[in-house]
Amino acid sequence: MLMHRQSLNAYAAPLCETVVDCPQPTGTQVLLRIARCGVCHSDLHMQDGYFLLGDGKQLDVRAGRTLPFTLGHEIAGIIECAGPDAKDATPGRAVAIYPWIGCGQCAACKAGDENICSAPRHLGITVDGGFASHVLIPHPRYLIDYAPLPASYAGALMCSGLTAYAALQRLSDRAARARLLLIGLGGVGLMGLALARAIYGTAPYVADIDAKKRAAALAAGAAAAFDPADPGARKELLKVSSGIYAACDFVGSDKSLNFATSVLAKGGKVVVTGLLGGAYTTPVAMFPLKAMTIEGTTTGTLAQARALIDLVRAKNIAAPPIAERPLDQAQATLDDLRAGRIVGRVVLTA
Ligand SMILES: [Zn+2]
Ligand SMILES: [Zn+2]
Repeated sequence: MLMHRQSLNAYAAPLCETVVDCPQPTGTQVLLRIARCGVCHSDLHMQDGYFLLGDGKQLDVRAGRTLPFTLGHEIAGIIECAGPDAKDATPGRAVAIYPWIGCGQCAACKAGDENICSAPRHLGITVDGGFASHVLIPHPRYLIDYAPLPASYAGALMCSGLTAYAALQRLSDRAARARLLLIGLGGVGLMGLALARAIYGTAPYVADIDAKKRAAALAAGAAAAFDPADPGARKELLKVSSGIYAACDFVGSDKSLNFATSVLAKGGKVVVTGLLGGAYTTPVAMFPLKAMTIEGTTTGTLAQARALIDLVRAKNIAAPPIAERPLDQAQATLDDLRAGRIVGRVVLTA
């Protein structure tokens, strides 16, 4: 059996098709026939080989994978076959894949935080992922049943949905005090808005420099929308909220984090998930004086991924706009994403 892949053969170069023999699963491994794989902003950074750190600095991320490499981490599909020790991996079962797989040995993995493992085997990041017809999964524990959700939605939930969910989980104590503030209403932000309403039962405030995104967020039930580029926005938000206790920065730039911290109440907390880039400085005394917390999080744990799928099914949380394209459109999709031509999610069909 052959495996078709849209491979990264060199950094900063277009993906191209490679065809190899399908790997045979051994031990606890499971071979998945991919039905859908979402295209994510972080795929652009992986293709470039770096993240922007601000002040012209870059974080080189080219180490730790061999080329050709298969990107893609928002995967759902059908079990093709499995090794002799893979329990419950019945061929034909439809599953989403938790892609943030750890080494299983380090302190983070032992605590269940495989997403921040020190020797990760993250699919599409350090191990071949989902821009392909098949993918090899090391253990059936990473398979998550998703029916009756669509496969494309289940895949997207493993990254953008999980990121928003994990950020909201870190704000649960403060979210009980007052409305949340969500900054950046792209794919993760809109998912965060829907999840925040379902989890906390109140509509959050939102902030985005893009009027179209503010309008989309208001249509999706935001309490009020603010433009952080408007010099009056901070005052206005403080007036209606009397200070924010819980904020998510889904943008991750100097501007977005400055806006978030500028509207915090005493004891307020910002969780940063965005990776846009930039550098943030603040007087150190602001931490004690405002009893301020700034915390970062990246994707989420396996337990959170399972809880998220359960929540979305139980509360019937609607999917963001999802468009489907054939696998050989992977590079064209990355180009469109880079140029800002994509609204919602594009999912590749293998
Ligand atoms: Zn992603
Ligand atoms: Zn680990």
